Amino acid sequence: MEIRELSEQLSLANKELFVQNKEKETLAAALSLANIELDFQNKEKGKRAAELIIANIELDFQNEEKLKRARELMIANKELDFQNSEKEKRAEELILANIELAYQHDEKEKRAAELIKAYAQLSFQNEEREKRAAELILANTELIFQNQEKEKRAAELIIANTELIFQNLEKEKRADELIVANKELQFQNKEKGKRAAELIIANIELNFQDEEKEKRAAELLIALKELDFQDEERGKRAAELIIANREVLVQKQEKERAAAAEAKKDEFFNMVSHEFKTPLTNIKAINQLMEKTADKTDRNYAFILSANHSIKRLERLIEDLLDVTKIKSGQIDLNLAEFDFSDALDNSISNVQLQSPHHEILLVNTVNWTYLGDQFRIEQVLINLLNNAIKYSPDAQQVIVRAKLEAGSITVEVQDFGLGIAKEDIDQLFQRFYRVSKTAMKYQGVGLGLYIASEIITKHRGTFTVTSEPGKGSRFAFSLPLQ
Ligand code: ADP
Repeated sequence: MEIRELSEQLSLANKELFVQNKEKETLAAALSLANIELDFQNKEKGKRAAELIIANIELDFQNEEKLKRARELMIANKELDFQNSEKEKRAEELILANIELAYQHDEKEKRAAELIKAYAQLSFQNEEREKRAAELILANTELIFQNQEKEKRAAELIIANTELIFQNLEKEKRADELIVANKELQFQNKEKGKRAAELIIANIELNFQDEEKEKRAAELLIALKELDFQDEERGKRAAELIIANREVLVQKQEKERAAAAEAKKDEFFNMVSHEFKTPLTNIKAINQLMEKTADKTDRNYAFILSANHSIKRLERLIEDLLDVTKIKSGQIDLNLAEFDFSDALDNSISNVQLQSPHHEILLVNTVNWTYLGDQFRIEQVLINLLNNAIKYSPDAQQVIVRAKLEAGSITVEVQDFGLGIAKEDIDQLFQRFYRVSKTAMKYQGVGLGLYIASEIITKHRGTFTVTSEPGKGSRFAFSLPLQ
């Protein structure tokens, strides 16, 4: 039993050993694998170490190169510093040189401007010289022609001289033989001497004539220049005249345009005034009928009276406008007839007084004279002056009328104590549509009354005078000649 148990235990232990051996074998295999791996890794490390040593050697080499390069760079830097300071010096020199160049440039420009001027002057002088040269060429041609003439004459004289010499020789030859004839020849010689003297005199004369011709030529040149100058002046004058002519033409056209516009305006006023007149007459008739039939105690009666007043104003305005167009077209005709001048004064005063109860119109002096004129128009003038005197003296109570019969004329003066008129306005009062600007807005009116009044007085060959003091009042007076 014990053996069996022991063998069993041995077999178990054997098995265990077998297992353990197997494990050891597996472990040994694993170890050898790990060993192989380590060998491989060691080899790799060895390779890497060798590479690192090579890389190190390379780095050492590179470091040395860098040091060398750094040294070279330091040397190059020093060189550059030196070059920079050289360049700065050079730059300063260049700036100085530049300033100098700019100065030289200015000088050159000045010189160029002077040269241009000098060139223009030279061109002008050249032109003058060319003109002069052309003139000289002409004069020269003339002189050459004269010289040729002289040369011809001289040639003729030389021929004549040669002939004379030949004749003299002949004569000398013949002298011995012709003693008798000598006297005659002497006589003939004397004659020839005289002739020579005459020729010399003629020559002198010709010279003198030449000089005269030269003088004449110079005078002609001067005269020519003068003529040129006069031509230029005429040209200038003609240009000026053309411009002046154009200006006159433009002014004329302007005036014609203004006149046409004025005529159109007058035509328009005339047409409008006529168009207004008929309906206004209707309104006036209706209003008058209403005034007659209305109950005077009724509140509306005041409106009818006010409408009446407005109608009258409108009527007056239309009449004024029609008068203006008549004056402009020269159609304002006077209905001349004899009338008592005092009637005209009374009518006008009572007409205005009726409508202006706040003012007292005082007739200081009247004129009892049978006057030949247009009574309606004279009353129109008076009414206008009185209306103005009242209108432009709102704070006054009185208007004074003085009429005087003087040698050869009647004078009427209307004096008020109102606003008065400034000096600078007085001369313009009789212009169409003129109104004193300071007061124009405050008072009704269109600036036609005095214009029409002055035309009526002028038509009667009379005159107007105005004296006035601002703040104190005005005096409007007109004089009418008796014949
Ligand atoms: P209107 O009175 O309709 O303006 P007038 O031709 O009658 O036109 O008068 C022209 C201008 O002259 C008036 O606007 C006014 O400025 C001035 N004038 C006329 N009469 C008087 C006066 N008596 N006092 C002051 N100013 C006057």
